[in-house]
Amino acid sequence: MKRYLLVGCMALTNLAVQAQNNDSVQIRKMSDYLMNGKVGYEQLRFLTKSIGPRLSGSDQIVLAEHWAAKELKNLGADTVYRQQCMVPHWERGEKEIARVQPTQGKPYELNVLALGHSVGTGKSGIRAEVICVQNFAELEARKAEVKGKIVFYNYPWQNKFNHTFEGYGDAVIYRRDGAVKAAQLGAVGVLMRSVTHAEDNHPHTGTLRYEEGVPQIAAFALGVEDAVRLQTALQNDPKLKVFMRSTSVMKPDTIAHNIIGEIRGSVFPDQYITVGAHLDSWDNCEGAHDDGAGVVQSMAVLDAFKKTGIRPRHTIRIVLFANEENGARGASKYAEVAVQKQEKHVFAIESDAGAFTPRGFFFLMEDAKLQKIKSWIPLFKPYDIYEFDLKGTGVDIGPLHRALQTPAGQLYPDMQRYFEVHHAVSDTFETVSKRELNMGSVAMSALIYLIDKYGL
Ligand SMILES: [Zn+2]
Repeated sequence: MKRYLLVGCMALTNLAVQAQNNDSVQIRKMSDYLMNGKVGYEQLRFLTKSIGPRLSGSDQIVLAEHWAAKELKNLGADTVYRQQCMVPHWERGEKEIARVQPTQGKPYELNVLALGHSVGTGKSGIRAEVICVQNFAELEARKAEVKGKIVFYNYPWQNKFNHTFEGYGDAVIYRRDGAVKAAQLGAVGVLMRSVTHAEDNHPHTGTLRYEEGVPQIAAFALGVEDAVRLQTALQNDPKLKVFMRSTSVMKPDTIAHNIIGEIRGSVFPDQYITVGAHLDSWDNCEGAHDDGAGVVQSMAVLDAFKKTGIRPRHTIRIVLFANEENGARGASKYAEVAVQKQEKHVFAIESDAGAFTPRGFFFLMEDAKLQKIKSWIPLFKPYDIYEFDLKGTGVDIGPLHRALQTPAGQLYPDMQRYFEVHHAVSDTFETVSKRELNMGSVAMSALIYLIDKYGL
């Protein structure tokens, strides 16, 4: 009896080893194809250089949608379609001005960008004294001084966070809520140190939120060097004034689309695995890391399946989401339709954390499913993919996960340099390494291959 059991166990182990061998061969095939190819890199070149910045409501996002649909078709998707949604339409207007006017001496300009969704100042601009605070606690402590002034949030990036996404979460509250908190105390405008640890002077944009019943005031991000310069200037000359001018405007909502390409599942055509990224970008940059890279990595999964002859068991859906940057309406629409149609979603993943060397994945799912994924770690080891314990997903997959409890994930690249370029003019095609970009595609393809084959 014991002997039979032992033999049985050995047979099972052999089967498991055999399966892992087959899987490692298949993953190697996909890797060889993706690492030696140039489809994704050339797609990224086109998206960033020929189409360029593609904020919701812009002409370029329309071009990007057409381009993405065509690319998905060319790569061999069985079906390509567009899912319509309404998105905010904010326009930056003329180049913003922030000019320091010392009590003595010559005025000089600071490098600024209006935050996304910021109102304009009106053509004649505003001129006011500036109160520099480090954080919301200091703003509260000095609230009697705020009325009629420009609030300058000079909150520096905290290097204590080893994970930069935590540093971002820590600092981004000044961008998101700074205008409301300042306006509640009677401020007339906001300047803020950009949410970055870059040692340069590029301002980084991103959305702010206004609140019903609170006056809407204009808010600009400053390059870090100019933030330090303004801080020093205020120490020496507290009565200096800053002139702010922008013509940003929020227009009525407009139409955009999620662009979706599918390979139909051979066994479970009505069960979906979503692989996605966002097609839009900020208006001030090429959006190469954020999120052109994710777009081409998602398409690469489809490409790798097709080129290495994998017929997926589940339907693989590549979803290029609309409007992540200033509304995430594409993500909401995708989840809404999935609920309406009572779709069954096996897994969903996005790539939206930069095109740097992949380290692993964030996951959000019940533990038994995560343990199943972790049993595949040996297959990822040759590719230096080792991080499987970070908790989370991304903005575009989040709504689906919340609506249907779909097991979710996000590609986790090395993010140490991501926030140096994030939402800044420095997020260019040239800063993307072809090798690192392709390695991310390999990691995503391998994970999707295994989940499709074994389920979760
Ligand atoms: Zn992004």
